[in-house]
Amino acid sequence: MAERIDGKARAAMLREDVAAGVQTLFDATGVRPGLTVVIIGEDPASQVYVRNKGRMAEAAGFVSNTHRLPADVPEADLLAIIDDLNADDSVHGILVQLPLPDHIDDRTVINRIDPDKDVDGFHTVNVGRLSIGLDGFVPCTPLGCLDLLKHSGAPLTGAHAVIVGRSNIVGKPMAALLLAEHCTVTIAHSRTRDLAALCRTADILVAAVGRPGLISGDWVKEGATVIDVGINRIDAGEGKTRLVGDVDFESAAQRAAAITPVPGGVGPMTIACLLSNTLKAAKRARGRASQS
Ligand code: NAD
Repeated sequence: MAERIDGKARAAMLREDVAAGVQTLFDATGVRPGLTVVIIGEDPASQVYVRNKGRMAEAAGFVSNTHRLPADVPEADLLAIIDDLNADDSVHGILVQLPLPDHIDDRTVINRIDPDKDVDGFHTVNVGRLSIGLDGFVPCTPLGCLDLLKHSGAPLTGAHAVIVGRSNIVGKPMAALLLAEHCTVTIAHSRTRDLAALCRTADILVAAVGRPGLISGDWVKEGATVIDVGINRIDAGEGKTRLVGDVDFESAAQRAAAITPVPGGVGPMTIACLLSNTLKAAKRARGRASQS
């Protein structure tokens, strides 16, 4: 039976480390890292994420602000707000909660954020930095997956990592991170032929698809490490729902050496990594200020 990789516990430890780092920065400089989240519209899931981000940022000692804008806000107004945040020295991290309404272009908005305040790591400059191995900001979910992999003790150098899913938010940055860790990386997606056979060759299997239970136990190589990024809400009968991943946990755990559960695996790591990125942004801003 696989070891269960406890993302909830690891995320709590990471948040404690970040809180200690925040205190050290404050004691040395009087600066508190500032995180500002911009949310547009009333999407209930986004509202929950943003509330959780604010709560955890405050608990770690950050100055946390949220701009709530109506769903019909003109793109120009949103860009003007980002310009103000870019110019505000007390704001170290800016996050625009996705998805955005249809009349607003995601790429225009993301690329308006100062890359050194782009704590989501979605700006084209940060994507480029990750791709060529420069220090920048890495998207929080794959960063959390890598942290869990490292803490699981899975050997990465030379391992075959199969990532199922090629999104800009998870699959592609995960591939870049694992390549930098000297894995041999394969990215699979909806058009991949014989996905099951490919997954069976994976020492590290990362599922980021959004399809409940797509990956069953017989797709998992004996002794593999499985990271399940998927978050799917399914019908649990009697009018109830429950969260499941992209991997069928019970059958995969029979074969894997280690596996993340859903919930309680990758999910809690995302906000912890966001806080870690924001502390890093504040330290770097402080470093630049002390040099000028
Ligand atoms: P996405 O929809 O942008 O990308 C899904 C990818 O899966 C695509 O590249 C597609 O090619 C691939 N795919 C679809 N069907 C497939 C199939 N049958 N076989 C193989 N590949 C297939 O999704 P995303 O934003 O990358 O998110 C993926 C999952 O991870 C979702 O369940 C999402 O909720 C979850 N997620 C969790 C966190 C977190 O834990 N904090 C963060 C981001 C995303």
